[in-house]
Order: sequence, then structure tokens, then C-alpha cells
Amino acid sequence: MKKIPIVDLKAQYRQIKKDIDLAIKSVIKDSSFIGGQGNPYVKKFEDEFAKYIGTRNCIGCANGTDAIEIALKTLGIGPGDEVIVPALSWFSTSEAVSNVGASPVFVDILPKRYTIDPNKLEKVINKKTKAIIPVHLYGLPADMDEIMKISQKHNLIVIEDCAQAHGAEYKGRKVGTFGLLATFSFFPSKNLGAYGDAGCITTNDDNLAKISRMIGNHGQVKKHEHKIEGRNSRLDGIQAAILSVKLSHIDEWNKQRINKAALYNKLLFKNNNVVLPEAPSYSKHVYHIFGIQIENRDKIQNKLKENDIESSIHYPIALPFLDLYKKIGFEKKDFPVAEKIVKKIISIPIYPELKKDQIKFICDILNDNL
Ligand SMILES: *Cc1c(COP(=O)(O)O)cnc(C)c1O
Repeated sequence: MKKIPIVDLKAQYRQIKKDIDLAIKSVIKDSSFIGGQGNPYVKKFEDEFAKYIGTRNCIGCANGTDAIEIALKTLGIGPGDEVIVPALSWFSTSEAVSNVGASPVFVDILPKRYTIDPNKLEKVINKKTKAIIPVHLYGLPADMDEIMKISQKHNLIVIEDCAQAHGAEYKGRKVGTFGLLATFSFFPSKNLGAYGDAGCITTNDDNLAKISRMIGNHGQVKKHEHKIEGRNSRLDGIQAAILSVKLSHIDEWNKQRINKAALYNKLLFKNNNVVLPEAPSYSKHVYHIFGIQIENRDKIQNKLKENDIESSIHYPIALPFLDLYKKIGFEKKDFPVAEKIVKKIISIPIYPELKKDQIKFICDILNDNL
């Protein structure tokens, strides 16, 4: 069997080549390269994405990490403030908090959903706590009812990190609509990915939208009218045009991912040595990543490799255990679930173009060796 990659962006491009090539050509022909005021491609995508998510505003920016930083700055979060983030996420979530001068405070995750454990939130809330950043990790919405309840009780802001969950739903409502602000990444391999770095913020608050947009465009409200010192973090025309093409496919692609996940679940269900991801019936999990817990991960990863199957680990180290956070002195015993999971979790290929017989082959290897 041909090599099975962890994601296959080339296969996706082949399917939409005509539209993508036309979109790129059109931006070049118009020289509409840079975002900011008046780029029609950026405006079009922002309007379409806001409509898709169901928020009043979408503000494009340069990447998903900037989106988190800009969201924090928009809310005035900075030195002296604490922001709660999950112990398991991509590094950006805590990095952005530190980069605005605030302190990330980690909370353990749920054992089979991998999102932040709402029952452990209140233990870390204090006077300095300003916000919670739930991450809809792997494509599964965090437990938003509980998180919103606790945030309201303690007067905390919620910023959703939706980088892995374009189109995911919690009780019939899309992620990106719950927090005061929400952030998305369009890194190429995300469920909705650009052909380079890109990101955005969504919000129903028009005033915050204005501030976010201003921060990402040198503090300008109009050309040469700098209200504040912002930064340069704009969505560019080519990426926006590509994203508009791809947005029209996202629901179908997510459906495909859900079908692939269902087949994995069916074929691995009987294997007692595999812990499958849990998705509550009220959630629409969009399977950015299909993560399973297994023992002997190194051995299994080698077996997969011998059979030309790519796998990955999201993530080998929980955020509080990173060397750079050692100085803060987090204790492993405070994150028992994350500590256990980072040793066992493995991501196996999932993407819309993955074929049934490839999934069967991957499951045969796993079932024969576990
Ligand atoms: C990808 C990702 C980001 C950041 O995205 P970039 O666009 O690469 O900056 C942030 N948070 C999470 C959870 C991610 O997976």
C-alpha cells in the first residue's frame, strides 16, 4: 500500500485546483495583496466566515497565535493579570498570554475528551484572574455550559481558542460564538487552512471588533490616523481568496472527517488496549485530530512507520511541564490527567481524502499489535 501521510494537502489541492488557481490569479491581477482597509478579497472572506460561524464580526489577522494575542490586548489584559489555559494545547495558547505580559495558569484536562476540566477551574481562580481560554482541542468543543457558568459567577472573560475546531458545534451552536472573543488559525493543515499563515478573530461585539482591527493594522482607524501603537498582523489577499474557496467545502470536509472517525471507532471498538476519543452526543466533533491512547507508544509508532503509516503526537509534553515554565514551579501532581495522557496519546491519520481501505489497514496494524 502507498504511504499514508498524517494529512494530505496535495490530495485536497487536486480536488479544488481550478478554483484555487483562479482565485490566486485574480488577486495577483488586481494587486490586492495586503489586508487592512478596503481589500475586497479580505472583506469578502471576513463577511463569509462571520456568517458561517454566526457572529457579527470576523477580523482577519496574520495567524492564530497573533489572533490570541490581539484578543488579549483588545481586552486590556496584561502585566499582573492571570489567564487560565488548559494543560494540554498547542504552545500558542500559553505563549500568547505571556507575550502580552500576563501569566498563564494551567488547569488539567478531561481524561477522554482532552479539553479543560471545568471542575478544576474554581480552584485556581483568584483576584488576579481575568480570563479563561478554553481550547476546543482536536476539534471537540470544550464544556462551554460549565465554563460560561463559572466565568459569569467570577466575572471572567472567555476567549475561545478555536484553532482546531472550524465548524464544531456545542449543543447546536458553533464554537466561536460563546466567548466575548474567539480566535481561529488557518494554518495549512487545520480543518480550514490557507496556503501560508493566516488567522482571525470572531466576536459579536462591534466595539471590540473595531479595537482588534485597529491593533492588527498599526493602530489605524484610517490611513495615517494612528490611535494607538498596534502591530502589523493582517490577513493578506491571496490567503483570503484561497480561504473563500475552501470555506465552501468545509461542511463536506468535516462530514468526511466525522465518517472516517466513525469507521476508526467501529474497527477499534473491540480492542481493550485502545482508548478511543469521547464525544458527547450534544457535541459536533470535527476531528482535526484523531487521538487514541495506547501503551507501548514507541513500539506501535515504529510498527506503523514500518508499514508506511505516518503518525504524530499532540502533544508529547503538557504545557506546564515545558522546561521554560519550570521557573514557575508547577507540580506534576496538579495535572495527573495531562501527565498520563502525554505518555499514551498518538494521532493517527485523519483527513477528508483518507480512504476506507487505508483506515482498515491502519486498524489491522493496530489490532494485530495491541
Ligand atoms: C494551530 C494552533 C494555534 C495557532 O495557530 P498559528 O496559526 O499556527 O499561529 C493556536 N492554538 C491552537 C490550539 C492551535 O492548534
